[in-house]
Amino acid sequence: MVANWAEALLKLQTVDLRIRDLENRLALLPKEMNELKNRRDIAVNEVNTAAAAAKKIELSRKSVESEIEKLRAENRKLQQQTAMVKKNTEYQAMLGTIALNEKKIGDLESRELELMDEFEAAKKAYRKIKANNEAIVNTIRSEFDEFVTFAGDLKKEIAQLKAERPSDIRGVDADTLARYNRLLAGKDGVAPLVKVENEICGSCHLKVTRQALANIQKGAVTSCENCMHFIYLDDAE
Ligand SMILES: [Zn+2]
Repeated sequence: MVANWAEALLKLQTVDLRIRDLENRLALLPKEMNELKNRRDIAVNEVNTAAAAAKKIELSRKSVESEIEKLRAENRKLQQQTAMVKKNTEYQAMLGTIALNEKKIGDLESRELELMDEFEAAKKAYRKIKANNEAIVNTIRSEFDEFVTFAGDLKKEIAQLKAERPSDIRGVDADTLARYNRLLAGKDGVAPLVKVENEICGSCHLKVTRQALANIQKGAVTSCENCMHFIYLDDAE
């Protein structure tokens, strides 16, 4: 038979360990949610980067186009001027400039064609990344929503368990309860009250002293002399 004090503490401990588990789980959520946010930011940035790359190519193409326009206008003007030039050397110089400009225009037109191809490729890449990353962002969003719901559920259950948790227990004195609470807050993660099996403490796994065993038999509140956890015996097993 389990002593009354141990039975009462075990009941409390079941609730407390559940609360501790839920709180530990809850504490992990902000990090997991931040990771989701980071993944979302990366996906959004990739789309923005692809859009910016396409835009940059289009701007280059427009600048090439306006350069071509400028050269053409210059040549039209030169053509008109040649008709009025009297000196042959001047005339030849003008024709030379016109020819040079034509050559430049030809080069720029090739460059413009290249940029148009690059722009098409960049647009295609952008559309692909956009479709892909929008799907990723949607998945992340629903995962995030699940976390929000999960956090709410955890908080609700913790609050409920805490509300139901008895603040004082019949048969357990205040000093014992205070020690129990200290053990519960301990970093080892072991339950404050552990069973003794084959005379071995369930917390530190060392042999329990004869004196401690005798105390348990008497029904007294007993601690392991090594690890200070409360210990009990379950004769029924
Ligand atoms: Zn122990």
